[in-house]
Amino acid sequence: MAKMRVVQVPEAKAPFEIVEREVPEPVPGAVRIKVQACGICHSDSYTKDGLLPGIQYPRVPGHEVIGIIDAVGANVQGWAAGQRVGVGWHGGNCGYCDTCRRGDPFACETESLVTGITSDGGYADYMVARAETLARVPEDLSNVDAAPLMCAGITTFNALRNSGARPGETVAVLGLGGLGHLGVQFAAKLGFRTVAIARGQDKVPLARQLGAYRYIDNAAEDPAAALQKLGGAKAILATVTSADAMSSVQGGLAVNGTLLVIGAVEAVKVDTLALLRGRRSIKGWYSGTSIDSQETLAFSALTGVRPMTEILPLERAAEGYERMMSGKARFRVVLTTGN
Ligand SMILES: [Zn+2]
Ligand SMILES: [Zn+2]
Repeated sequence: MAKMRVVQVPEAKAPFEIVEREVPEPVPGAVRIKVQACGICHSDSYTKDGLLPGIQYPRVPGHEVIGIIDAVGANVQGWAAGQRVGVGWHGGNCGYCDTCRRGDPFACETESLVTGITSDGGYADYMVARAETLARVPEDLSNVDAAPLMCAGITTFNALRNSGARPGETVAVLGLGGLGHLGVQFAAKLGFRTVAIARGQDKVPLARQLGAYRYIDNAAEDPAAALQKLGGAKAILATVTSADAMSSVQGGLAVNGTLLVIGAVEAVKVDTLALLRGRRSIKGWYSGTSIDSQETLAFSALTGVRPMTEILPLERAAEGYERMMSGKARFRVVLTTGN
């Protein structure tokens, strides 16, 4: 049997270990992917720290996967060996429950499958993925550039394009980290009057470089008042994991404006009077399914949106994970296998 390397979490909160396993065979409905690159995401901590019930260990994390299909399981249509594909957070859906049939497979009622959490992910030379989770990767996007788009990219792009804001309208992106640096680029390329909000004057050049029309330093000024001076934001994309920061920007929403929540935090304070007086809303957005990933990759290839990355070989996954979790990484860490 052929062997491969995987970086696994042996049990919740235990250190990563790199081990040799047999290369897996694709089950019916799935393909085997020879992994080329896998981004590290903060949500890999669900697996690392056992933050969701029922995770079976050992488990291989990683849901920002780019690779080549090298074996196709039974009952798979439309995919073939040799195709370059991406796999993200969404780990599959049944296709027959009421929610799937209503066109919302992200919220499938039968199965709640997440790559790298309910099945082994991309910190490995090979992984198995269900066919409905696969996205095509455009030729002119490198493996390292494409990987972070499979979670950080799709999450920000898909929320923004479904925000209800129209080109020319003001859209703010709260936070300039792994998600925010992509969110600002997407907002600008989608034609929004893009406002970046972060702490400190030192981020002005970065915000400009990413395409922001205006930068608000929320350590120096009230972001809600600053947004209202611009006429209010039709959408605010909250990419930070601070409930206080989210609470403090709500007052910057325009009439009919929406605060988009794409990361889980503790309770956010809500000004209910402002919501009803201005018909404003606070809405969560699930990253998306494989077609959303595919469209994120295609849009990025088309418009030049690219993540800023630090690249490490697979065997240095633990170090890369530490850089992401400590906030030191600028801005996403991508593991490469050399395959
Ligand atoms: Zn993620
Ligand atoms: Zn379903």
